[in-house]
Amino acid sequence: MLLHTIKEVREQVKQWKKEGLTVGLVPTMGALHEGHLSLIQKAVSQCDKVVVSIFVNPIQFCPGEDLDKYPRTLEADTKLCQDAGVSVVFAPTPAEMYGEREMRTNDFLTYVIPPFFHVHKLCGKSRVGHFDGVCTVVNKLFNIVQADRAYFGEKDAQQLSIIRKMVEDLNIPIEIVPCPIIREESGLALSSRNKYLSAEDKVHALALYQILNNIKLCYKKGVTDVQALKETAIFILNEHHDLEYLEFLDDKDLEEVTEANDNTRVFIACKVGGVRLIDNMLLG
Ligand code: AMP
Repeated sequence: MLLHTIKEVREQVKQWKKEGLTVGLVPTMGALHEGHLSLIQKAVSQCDKVVVSIFVNPIQFCPGEDLDKYPRTLEADTKLCQDAGVSVVFAPTPAEMYGEREMRTNDFLTYVIPPFFHVHKLCGKSRVGHFDGVCTVVNKLFNIVQADRAYFGEKDAQQLSIIRKMVEDLNIPIEIVPCPIIREESGLALSSRNKYLSAEDKVHALALYQILNNIKLCYKKGVTDVQALKETAIFILNEHHDLEYLEFLDDKDLEEVTEANDNTRVFIACKVGGVRLIDNMLLG
């Protein structure tokens, strides 16, 4: 069932709750691929009813980012969801989510601001305000759907960590379920933005996975010095890669580490052919 309004979703969920059914939520921006599908399948296997939200959230895009050209494929997405056993696809307009006046300027909207410590690193450094937009929309979706569980991909590990912190700090009654990164056979992490890559870009994009894999191999062989592990990337990067960051952080609290251990997650962001790609890998 495809629903566009908050009221309709609330009524549907109210009905399910009356029947004692458990509800799962999978928040997405659409252009669904196997990565999203893995979250959906997990939700369908664990909950009686599943809501997939499809909303290209304008307030999480920074000026100059790809808000206007972000792929929008609602018909195909809805079909994929139906085939996967999803009960409701919630696809609101920006005005439905935020109101006309709130959309025109930020001055009228209540925001959820995640902690400086978690935000001012990795993607948050270049995407100023991005995680404010993410937390605000995710909080709204939690309030609208009132799900028992919500599913997020480790592909966006900083986002997952920030959302877990928000749920803890604001006592939101929901279970956050992490889901592993789904990759192409080549190792490239699936992303809606891969659609922007040319065939040649795709070959160069493999560097992200290769770097993460090499680092993990070296770690498994006993190298724990982060500087030494970082240096292994130099042999893989070339003029086709515009590296934004390669960082080693504790998986739970995103604290920087200098000596890697099993709880260290390696994060990488790199532009290839003008397309910004992110990936990460846990060393343990
Ligand atoms: P997005 O539509 O990009 O906002 O992603 C919606 C959800 O799907 C987020 O929780 C992402 O982390 C997750 N996701 C996106 N790509 C992948 C992937 N390749 N593997 C696992 N989860 C993913």
